[in-house]
Amino acid sequence: MIEAETEVERVTTNSRRKVCDALVLFGASGDLAKKLVLPSLFNLLFNLAVRHKLDVPIVGVALSDWDDEGMRKYTEASLVAHGKNVKGKTWEKMREQIHFIPGNYSDDETFSTLADRLREARSEFPLFYLAIPPSFFGTVVDQLSRHGLTGSCRVVVEKPFGRDLESAVELNDTLHRSLEERQIYRMDHFLGKEPVQNLLVFRLANSMVEPIWNNKYIDNVQITMYEDFGVQDRGAFYDGVGAMRDVVQNHLMQIFGLLTMEPPAELSTDAIHDEQVKVFRATRPMDAAEVVRGQYRTYRDTEGVQPHSQTETYFAATMWVDSWRWAGVPFHLRAGKELAFTATEAVVTFRNPPRLNIAGSGLSAPPPNRVRFRFTEPDGVTIEMQAKEPGAGYASSTIMLNADFAESLGHEHEPYELLIGAAMVGDKSLFGRADSVLRTWEIVDPI
Ligand code: NDP
Repeated sequence: MIEAETEVERVTTNSRRKVCDALVLFGASGDLAKKLVLPSLFNLLFNLAVRHKLDVPIVGVALSDWDDEGMRKYTEASLVAHGKNVKGKTWEKMREQIHFIPGNYSDDETFSTLADRLREARSEFPLFYLAIPPSFFGTVVDQLSRHGLTGSCRVVVEKPFGRDLESAVELNDTLHRSLEERQIYRMDHFLGKEPVQNLLVFRLANSMVEPIWNNKYIDNVQITMYEDFGVQDRGAFYDGVGAMRDVVQNHLMQIFGLLTMEPPAELSTDAIHDEQVKVFRATRPMDAAEVVRGQYRTYRDTEGVQPHSQTETYFAATMWVDSWRWAGVPFHLRAGKELAFTATEAVVTFRNPPRLNIAGSGLSAPPPNRVRFRFTEPDGVTIEMQAKEPGAGYASSTIMLNADFAESLGHEHEPYELLIGAAMVGDKSLFGRADSVLRTWEIVDPI
């Protein structure tokens, strides 16, 4: 028993917590379940180190008129589409664990059936995963509470967590009516990306980095998420959201937080969140004078998009942190679709070195050093430095010190696999805390 806990903890957490004994997937027949949640559950079961701990019933709940077999077929099709081996023992085992409850979230009957199922399975610590339209978050949590299911559960809430400060506060209050903060896991899959988590390690585990990580040496920071494709078949969804709500308030702000926070006193969930909240509090709310919103030319021709839509497909903002470490350093956050390239990265540009007046050579100042963190494949880090050009004189040229994480560090876990595994064992460090999420809304709210 002790050995098993140690194994789970090795991959997901660093302290003892109860492992969930049932996973209830609301929205089991939806797009997110098919694309990400079900394949990640397969990976978790496939991973021998955690399998015997996460070997729990999986109960889907959605409107579709399915039985257990219908949900198993849907899951199998999703796994095949994601190249998983459905001939082996993992699928055989997972298949047996899958159950389905058809029903509307507004109906009491759906939840009394669920309560019966969980009782039969002797579940005391269920994990409820809300992969459902945000308008149902409150309904489902209220229903769970009315049916006595919230006492010792955990609830994963998908993004978006609100659409502005007011609705995020309202959603938070709704959740807190039935749940304590420690039971709520606010999902932002960027926090499950290994190269994003690396930001903290890169800063804190390298003695040549942290001492210069401040306004004395850093000139500016650019955090970028560009895509060379448009909204594709998600026009109706995207038109009500836009670039800022879709990726800036959440994903890019998380990267910003990890780049700017002070070192936490310890690597515990609360200590990390405390520092993030501190830096978010020191960050000025966005100023419309320093924001650009744009829309690509063919956006309004997309199915589901309003003919006169004002929704932005491009968003850029300059942000400022009023702290001793960061005063005067601009942070440029930008995101958009249908652009020249696809990349998610953060580029830290250092101050220009002085002119190299070696032996009165009259050379101009070399370009600045840059650290480029790449969060999409091939993810890794590139450091731009100056070195002497061959030949006479002392002119410098930029050289790249490049590390590809897959090559140097090996296999990465998929973000959803890591996050679902963490929620199952009760590790909250990779999920947003209420004060931190609400503060990011405060920062973007003026826009
Ligand atoms: P879908 O519309 O594809 O799926 C919605 C799910 O909810 C379906 O299983 C549907 O059941 C069920 N449902 C809806 N209304 C009811 C109801 N009244 N009673 C019972 N079941 C109901 O949504 P997505 O999967 O795309 O998104 C789910 C959540 O995940 C959202 O919060 C979204 O923002 C978030 N998300 C989605 C991503 C994606 O790529 N899809 C990415 C990141 C986050 P049925 O199909 O049987 O009618």
